[in-house]
Amino acid sequence: MTTYVHAFEEGSKEQKYLLGGKGANLAEMTNLGLPVPPGFTITTDACKAYMAAGDRLPGGLMDEVAARRAELEEKMGKRLGDADDPLLVSVRSGAAFSMPGMMDTVLNLGLNDVSVGGLARQTGNERFAFDSYRRFVQMFGKVVLDVDGDLFEDALHAKREERGVATDPELGADDLRELVEAFKAIVKAEAGIEFPQDPDEQLRHAIEAVFKSWNGDRARLYRDHEGIPHDLGTAVNVQSMVFGNKGDDSGTGVAFTRDPATGENVRYGDFLSNAQGEDVVAGIRVTEPLSAMGQHFPESHRGLLEVMDLLERHYRDMCDIEFTIEQGKLFILQTRVGKRTAAAALRMATEMVDEGLIDRREAVLRIQPAQLDQLLHPQFDPAASYDALAKGLNASPGAAVGQVYFTADDAEAHHEAGEKVILVRPETSPDDLHGMIAAEGILTSRGGLVSHAAVVARGMGTPAICGAEAVRIDMESRSFRVGDTVVAEGDVISINGTTGEVVLGAVPVVVPEPTGPFGTLLEWADELRRLGVRTNADLPADARKARDFGAEGIGLCRTEHMFLGDRLPIVQRMILAETPDEEEAALAELHDRQRQDFVEIFEAMDGLPVTIRLLDPPLHEFLPDIEELLVAKALGRLDAQGEKLLAAAQVWREANPMFGTRGCRLAIVRPGLYQMQAKAIIEAAIDRRRAGGDPRVEIMIPLAVTRAELGYLVDEVHRVAEETFAEAGDRFEYLVGTMVETPRAALVAGEIAEVAQFFSFGTNDLTQMTYGFSRDDVEGRFMPRYLELGLLAANPFETLDTEGVGQLVRMGVEHGRATRPDLKLGICGEHGGDPASVEFCHRAGLDYVSCSPFRVPLARLAAAHAALGESGPAASA
Ligand code: ADP
Ligand code: MG
Ligand code: MG
Repeated sequence: MTTYVHAFEEGSKEQKYLLGGKGANLAEMTNLGLPVPPGFTITTDACKAYMAAGDRLPGGLMDEVAARRAELEEKMGKRLGDADDPLLVSVRSGAAFSMPGMMDTVLNLGLNDVSVGGLARQTGNERFAFDSYRRFVQMFGKVVLDVDGDLFEDALHAKREERGVATDPELGADDLRELVEAFKAIVKAEAGIEFPQDPDEQLRHAIEAVFKSWNGDRARLYRDHEGIPHDLGTAVNVQSMVFGNKGDDSGTGVAFTRDPATGENVRYGDFLSNAQGEDVVAGIRVTEPLSAMGQHFPESHRGLLEVMDLLERHYRDMCDIEFTIEQGKLFILQTRVGKRTAAAALRMATEMVDEGLIDRREAVLRIQPAQLDQLLHPQFDPAASYDALAKGLNASPGAAVGQVYFTADDAEAHHEAGEKVILVRPETSPDDLHGMIAAEGILTSRGGLVSHAAVVARGMGTPAICGAEAVRIDMESRSFRVGDTVVAEGDVISINGTTGEVVLGAVPVVVPEPTGPFGTLLEWADELRRLGVRTNADLPADARKARDFGAEGIGLCRTEHMFLGDRLPIVQRMILAETPDEEEAALAELHDRQRQDFVEIFEAMDGLPVTIRLLDPPLHEFLPDIEELLVAKALGRLDAQGEKLLAAAQVWREANPMFGTRGCRLAIVRPGLYQMQAKAIIEAAIDRRRAGGDPRVEIMIPLAVTRAELGYLVDEVHRVAEETFAEAGDRFEYLVGTMVETPRAALVAGEIAEVAQFFSFGTNDLTQMTYGFSRDDVEGRFMPRYLELGLLAANPFETLDTEGVGQLVRMGVEHGRATRPDLKLGICGEHGGDPASVEFCHRAGLDYVSCSPFRVPLARLAAAHAALGESGPAASA
């Protein structure tokens, strides 16, 4: 028979899939001898069985719970519901991954009309006993029985009014006793059942509610967003209660063994005296820093610091810890490897290597490639001058500019309408998650660095400022005020989550340099990876940026932009040319410009390979829109030049331009084009060599599908190069290769490799053509629906489809290398910057990936992860 329930003593941190993260770590700490209040964990298997049975508790589960409960009562010397000295427990959800949307913890379970008297006598504090009972009925009603929480709050409010007091602590024991009755009446009216008095029944209700919450909307939304499987299930922890609200010798807090925002090796945390744990997280009361705790509770403080050291050494990572002090005695209620910003993750990983806690390999594995994105997030331009309107806590780094909205629904709606949104709230709760996902940045007027808003924003890498108390939000008028300044819904503000500054209007933003721990960690990644990383860059500035980010060359330099802007009239002259002389004159002009373009690119990438793709798009892209020309003609506004352009546009018009006269096909019918480009490239390289540079030239011919076609054009390039070498009296080695971006090219790669010295897999086109999906047309139309219904696992334009398109890539690699063993192989589609696709490229045996400059660091790290994944099991997250 399956055992569904385990005492804390029986588990370990390795069992997070079975016991949930919270349960596994409670078990680990119990076995480390830390002061953890005793309890037991109901496994995720029980939750899975519950779901499989159509939401019914598995047979025998409640018997097991009863047995464990009896053991716990024995150990504690108290019984649930006891009339004299009752045991109270909390019921806490906990899945393998900590996630919002799960059932909130229920505290003080086991109280009823009888045991409340026992609690009063044992503590000698009737008020405390009835306050605990009233909280329990309220929490149980709201969280387990799904009663509208406002009803309880309203009753509480009414009681305060009736007594003429402003705060709850001013209510007396009798008031609270009456409130318990009022709350029970609310439960009866709303949930249709008497408030359960039997602790067994209370437990059963609570356990079932935790299981149900696994499939709640918020939980599902979060799992979809984070890519967490829906079938893991959640565990339930039942734990004896300790009380941080028993007076001034009690308190509660949250501690981190290092600073989760910066990664600095300092102990960090928030503390509240005479409070229950929920109060810290809710951000309702202003907390004190951990250091202040040392003054009130020197002994517990010392004890806590020891626990922190022990846990960090044991987990070999930064831990976050929930603790409570009951009448001077320290209890540890939770620990886990703490969430952190990307910057903190890098700093901790590199410092922990220096401290000898972990090795470089583990440090590299601890950073997820996608996290680096956070560090490449924009920051306020240091050169910009601005006045901060208000300052709050720097809860999650990065800068964001956007329009202000005050509810999660509005934020989501305006985001979907294409606006950049800053979500402004007094504080956030799990109900706001969809708005937080939609927002560029988050601003709250209340709450601390461990408030919901702060924790969730850091996890998502969204810039956030919390606890900006000067920001007075008026939800009625949908505006906020700071002093005399009123900011209305839709107004633009800028927030800097790194410093906590709120600014009216848009502040210019810049992207930071890859230095410090960032650079160190990526150097370690470079030592571990096999795959090269190049960049897709068309402009010298992009090339330089990419080089700063560690790019080892250019994998794709498109030349189309060199035909636009002020050069467009020259290109049009070439297209409209009526005689060979006219065409040649236009090409000569383009040649001079291109030569200079290439000189600058070679200079920026001096000593590193530069793959230049000859002109790829169809010619009509360089002509005005045919419909506009026709309208102008109808209105009699077309001059002679316009007439010519219209005629040309009609000539070059194609039913399906992506499959039409473009790339090498255009070069075959307009031979002057590639000849001109080849000449400009070779001459530019010679210019650089004369200037003492070291250009590494790779000329790439797009869209080839046959050996004959490619061979013809390769010969042309060689002929032009030889002529140019002869003229210049200089020569150098260069490569000519092709893009493999059609299924046919991949299928006949063996033949094509006879005339190509390298392949670059153009996976954007290859994906379009393999699926028969026109990217520009499908992404906004049916793709979202396909993803929603799970008809596609991922957007194949973002993550390479390894099964289909990947097969063509593997075939291209295999056949190409069979013909030409030293064939250079790369990928230049946007997939080159997607971590999962990088891993595929590693396995497929490519030499390099090429991606946009900002994704170069991600690709370097992803390539290291791919190499490490091969050499041994990946370290757990
Ligand atoms: P979450 O997963 O949201 O952090 P927790 O189960 O940790 O939920 O509980 C919420 C709050 O209740 C925390 O502050 C925690 O410390 C407190 N808490 C949970 N169990 C107990 C207990 N047995 N005694 C005292 N406080 C508890
Ligand atoms: Mg907790
Ligand atoms: Mg292409």
